[in-house]
Order: sequence, then C-alpha cells, then structure tokens
Amino acid sequence: MTFDLASRLAARRAEHLYRQRPLLQTPQGPDVMVDGERLLAFSSNDYLGLANHPEVIAAMQQGAAKWGVGGGASHLVIGHVTPHHELEEALADFTGRPRALLFSTGYMANLAAVTALVGQGDTVLEDRLNHASLLDAGLLSGARFSRYLHNDAGSLGKRLDKAVGNTLVVTDGVFSMDGDLADLPAICAEARQRDAWVMVDDAHGFGPLGAAGGGVVEHFGLGIDEVPVLVGTLGKAFGTAGAFVAGSEALIETLIQFARPYIYTTSQPPAVACATLKSLELLRRENWRREHLNRLIARFRQGAAEIGLSLMDSPTPIQPILVGSSERALKLSAVLRERGLLVGAIRPPTVPAGSARLRVTFSAAHSEAQVERLLDILAECWNRLAEEPETDA
Ligand code: PMP
Repeated sequence: MTFDLASRLAARRAEHLYRQRPLLQTPQGPDVMVDGERLLAFSSNDYLGLANHPEVIAAMQQGAAKWGVGGGASHLVIGHVTPHHELEEALADFTGRPRALLFSTGYMANLAAVTALVGQGDTVLEDRLNHASLLDAGLLSGARFSRYLHNDAGSLGKRLDKAVGNTLVVTDGVFSMDGDLADLPAICAEARQRDAWVMVDDAHGFGPLGAAGGGVVEHFGLGIDEVPVLVGTLGKAFGTAGAFVAGSEALIETLIQFARPYIYTTSQPPAVACATLKSLELLRRENWRREHLNRLIARFRQGAAEIGLSLMDSPTPIQPILVGSSERALKLSAVLRERGLLVGAIRPPTVPAGSARLRVTFSAAHSEAQVERLLDILAECWNRLAEEPETDA
C-alpha cells in the first residue's frame, strides 16, 4: 500500500506528538466548557478580551444585516466591499502608514507579502523561530532562503554578507511560542547597512505592546523607514479574524498586483470587517485593557519565580513554562486539567526538540483572582512533577 497512514499516525502517537483538538462548547473567554468539562482557560490569543465584547458582537450583527454574510468574490473582482475599505483606512491611520491591505488570515498575509517581494535571484533571511507561515512563505517564494540564529543580529549579518538580489529580512515581532520580542533595533541596523528590507509579523504585539497598542514597532519607536513591511493579525488582540499588511503606497499596490494569495481568494465577510472596526476603536480607546493585562503578567512572573518555574524572557501575554520532554509537558497539562485549568502543551515540531512547554497566555478578560488560582495550582503540580523522573528527551 502506498499511503500507510496508520503507521504514520501510530509513530506520531508513540513520540507523544499526537495532537487532539479540544472542543470548545462555550464562547471564548477565561471560563469555558471544553469536551464537557468546565475549565479556567489560559490558552487563547484574545489578549484584550474583545472576542465577546457586546459592542463588537453588535457591530458584526449590524454588519451582517446591512452587507450580508459573504464576501461574494475576490477583492479584484467584486468582493472589495465598503467595510473592507473603511477598515483598511482605519488600519493605515492606526499604524501611521500611507496604506494597509486587508487579508482573510495572517497565514495568507505572510505568504502574500513574502512571495510578492522576493523570488528567484533574491534572498530571504528569517529568524529560525519565525512562525510557520513565514517559513513556508520563504520556501514558496523561490528566493534563496536561510534561517539565522534566534534574535541574533550577528548571525543575520553573516548571511546578509552573502545575500544576492533584493533581500528581505523577516521576523516575528513577538515570538509566538517564546513570547520574547524581536531585537528590532539591532536587526534593522544590520539590514540598513546592506540595503535589505525588514518585514515584521507582529501578530502577537498589536494590542498588548506599545503605549497605544501599536505593537513592537511602537514599543521600539521604529517607523516605515526601518520596517517597510508590517503585518498584523486580527484574530488575536482584535478578537475577530483576518490580517493586514501596512506600508507605502507602492508596497500595497505591488501586493494588489502581484500577490497570488491576495488575488486568488474570496474576501472575508464584510460583517467581520465591521466587527474589527469596532474592536479597533475599543483597542484605541480603552487603555485600561492593556494596563490590566500588564499587571496580570507582572504578577504571574513574580509568583512563578517564587515557585521556581522555568520562564522565558517574555514581557508579553505569552508566558511559556519550559518543561523539557513532550511526555512531561503532556503530563503537566493533564494534571492541571484535572485541577480545572486549561493550558496547552506545545511540543515539537512546533518548538525545538527537548524544549516542550506549557504555553500560558493571559487576557485582559482574566481577573487577578484567576491568576492567583493558576499560581496556587501550578505550585502544587510543579512540585509533584519535579519528583518524577524524565523518561524521554
Ligand atoms: N503569525 C504569527 C506570529 C502567528 O502566531 C499566527 C497565528 N497563530 C499567524 C501569523 C497566522 O495568523 P492567522 O491565525 O490569522 O492565520
């Protein structure tokens, strides 16, 4: 038999890498019902707690009543509807850039931007811990593709010395599995010396980071000259769905003309754009969400240090606890679940072998009491786990 899927799946299981999809039976939020169990979740990317905001829900309902439920066609045919256009203008204003272009998902935005900018005879250099969509985009582009050491401007510099053609340096703004920030000042300085362009995917930075929620570029005070290609996603802190690329007039026109993942797909439902316009307004208006979130993160890091948990260098809502083997990560996640907490175990190939972790994420929808509960239960379970020997690497 050619396709021996059963053996492939069995091998996945034997390596403790088999993935299950938890079934969420309530709306997104801290208190959820998953697979029939009531749990307190620290797993979603709804960082500002906007996914269930009544004003965002109302905006989507009104949007559906006014514009229908489907995009109807691709943007270049007849699917570019007024709410999409208004959202693009609002996102350009929010990012302080001449234009923004809306996509249905972040995955597509990344594929589109990289493949439209570089191809055969060019070079794309990526942080080795970049999101899968960026790595896939690099491979798909046909450009010479190389991964530099994580957040290491020196390693990037060596590759820039050997680069040919147009050169694009691509990095996550906030690394999705580690929660740390890209060292953008150093990366941009290297790129500038060699006339390379920098593209930042700030899927996890928009909303939580920067004084006004403008993400990692705002955090470091960088503009369009340093980071000509800026990507944000809308399914995380914005609480809705989709993504955008923000940049110059010429960049956006280039994407519209040449980016196949933009051209050959149906536009997102206009009602989703209506919802995002509202969540953008809330994100800009309600600073307390970011402030509350940052207080929760600080409290967690302090409490976790007291317990002796192995945290990463992360100032963001992504607070992974390093565990080591996949088996131990799964075990800890299961023990927490028995105690009523939902925290996902992240394993290879999503993270490097031997660095399996629990990925704790915080939202402005969490309360201080919920963070205390998490810390109490972690203290108990961590000590229990520490007494058990490791059986795999
Ligand atoms: N970039 C990063 C850094 C991400 O973490 C994700 C999603 N987890 C994406 C892009 C893809 O975005 P989307 O879910 O909108 O496809």
